[in-house]
Amino acid sequence: MPNTSAAAVSNLGALDAAHHLHPFSDMKKLNAAGTRIIERGEGCYIFDNHGKRYLDGFAGLWCVNIGYGRREIAEAVMRQMNELPYYNTFFGTTTPPAVLLAQKITSHAGPNINRVFFTGSGSEANDTWFRMARVYWGAMGKPTKKAIIARRNGYHGSTVAGASLGGMKWMHEQGDLPIAGVHHIDQPYWYGEGGELSRDEFGLKMARQLEEKIDELGEDNVAAFVAEPIQGAGGVIVPPDSYWPEIARICKARNILLVADEVICGFGRTGHWFGHQHFGVEPDLAPIAKGLSSGYLPIGGVMVSDRVGNVLVEEVGDFNHGFTYSGHPVCAAAALENLRIIEDEKLVERVHDDIGPYLATGLKSLEDLPIVGEVQQVGLMAAVQLAEDKATRKRFEDKETAGVTVRNHCLANGLVLRATADRMLFSPPLVITHAEVDEMIDITRKGLEHAWSVLGA
Ligand SMILES: *Cc1c(COP(=O)(O)O)cnc(C)c1O
Repeated sequence: MPNTSAAAVSNLGALDAAHHLHPFSDMKKLNAAGTRIIERGEGCYIFDNHGKRYLDGFAGLWCVNIGYGRREIAEAVMRQMNELPYYNTFFGTTTPPAVLLAQKITSHAGPNINRVFFTGSGSEANDTWFRMARVYWGAMGKPTKKAIIARRNGYHGSTVAGASLGGMKWMHEQGDLPIAGVHHIDQPYWYGEGGELSRDEFGLKMARQLEEKIDELGEDNVAAFVAEPIQGAGGVIVPPDSYWPEIARICKARNILLVADEVICGFGRTGHWFGHQHFGVEPDLAPIAKGLSSGYLPIGGVMVSDRVGNVLVEEVGDFNHGFTYSGHPVCAAAALENLRIIEDEKLVERVHDDIGPYLATGLKSLEDLPIVGEVQQVGLMAAVQLAEDKATRKRFEDKETAGVTVRNHCLANGLVLRATADRMLFSPPLVITHAEVDEMIDITRKGLEHAWSVLGA
C-alpha cells in the first residue's frame, strides 16, 4: 500500500469515520457501525482487510462486468498513461483512444446510432442528453418542446438533472427537486402495483400513462421520455412484455424522443449489447457508463442516433456543453480494452446462451420457499421479490427490514447482494462461473430461510 503509513492503515476505520463522507449514507449510523474495508479483488471475489472473502453478486455497483484483477486493463491504462495521460477534446482536438472508443461503441448499437458524446459518469450522461434533447427541438423549430417525462422509482444519477429525472421521492426531498420541466409517471411494477390486472394489461396501462401525460402537457411542450430498459436501483423491475412496444409506439406517434438509460443494462448485462435490444426498441438517445469500462476507470457517454446527431451536426452550430474529462484518453483506453475483452471472450453471447439461463434455473429453484413472491431475471440482472404471503402477493409491512435481514445474512456468509426494500438484487460479473452461481444461490437460499424464520408467519 504505497504512501500509507502502517499506523494509518491499522486505523483506517477511524480515519474513514473522521474524514470521509459516503454517498447515500446516514453518516452517524455508519460511523457507529463501522465501514467494511475492501482491499482486493480477483475474478468474482472481493477481500476485506481481515482477509474475509466475498462473492460479489453485485459486480461492485452493477459495473465490474469483466470481473476484478484483469491485468490487460491495468496494462492498457499504464501504456496510455505513459503515452498521453490527458488531453482535452474541446478546441478542435481529439485523442486516439476517444476516437476508437466512439467507433467501437457504435459498432455494437443499431444501424441508426453512429455517434457518442463522452462524459465522466452516468449522471453527467443524463445531464448531457437532457440539454441535447432541448437543443435538438430548438434546432427543429420547436423550442416549446422542453418537458421531459420520466418515471417514479426510476434512477438516472445524482446530479441535479439526474436526480430530477429519477423518481426517488427521498432524493427529491433533499434540495428542492425535481427542477422545472421534469414530470413523472408510474413504473411498470406489476408485483407491487399491478393489483388484479394481468401482467400485460398492467404493462399497457402503465405505458398509456405516458400518452395521458403527453396530452396533459401538450405534445408541443414535450421533448422526451426517459426510462431504464429494466429499472436497476429501483429494484430490477422487468416490465411486462406489453410495456416497451407500447412506449415506443406512443413516442413515435406523439413525436417525442425516446431515451433509454443504458447505464446498467448496457455492455452485456441483459445478454445483449444494450438493454433496448432485448426489448426490440430503438432509442433516439442512450446514456451509458458503468459496464463501459467495467468500473476500472470512470467514463460515461451518450449514444446519439442519426435523427438527433444529424441535426446537432448540421443545424445546431456550437453545442455549449462538455466536461474537462469528456473522452479522457486513459479512461477511454481502459474502456476500449474492456470492450475488447467482452468481444473476444464472447461475454454477451455467454450471458445470453449460457450463464444467464443457468442463473435463471438457479433462481427458479428458490421459488419453493414461502418467502419468495416472484423471481425476475434477464441475463445477469435479477431480483427475488420477498413476500409475506405469496398466494395473495402480500408484502411485509416493514419492507426495508425484510430486505436487510436477507442481505446481512448473505453478507455474513460471504455473498454481497443488494436489497432495494423487499427485493433482493443480483448483478454479478459476466464472467461468473457455474460453480460461483451455485454458491450464490446456496447462500441466498440460506439467507431467505433465515429471514423467513425471523419474519415469516
Ligand atoms: C448508476 C446509474 C446512473 C448514474 O451513474 P453515475 O456514474 O453514478 O453517475 C444513471 N442511470 C442509471 C440507470 C444508473 O444505474
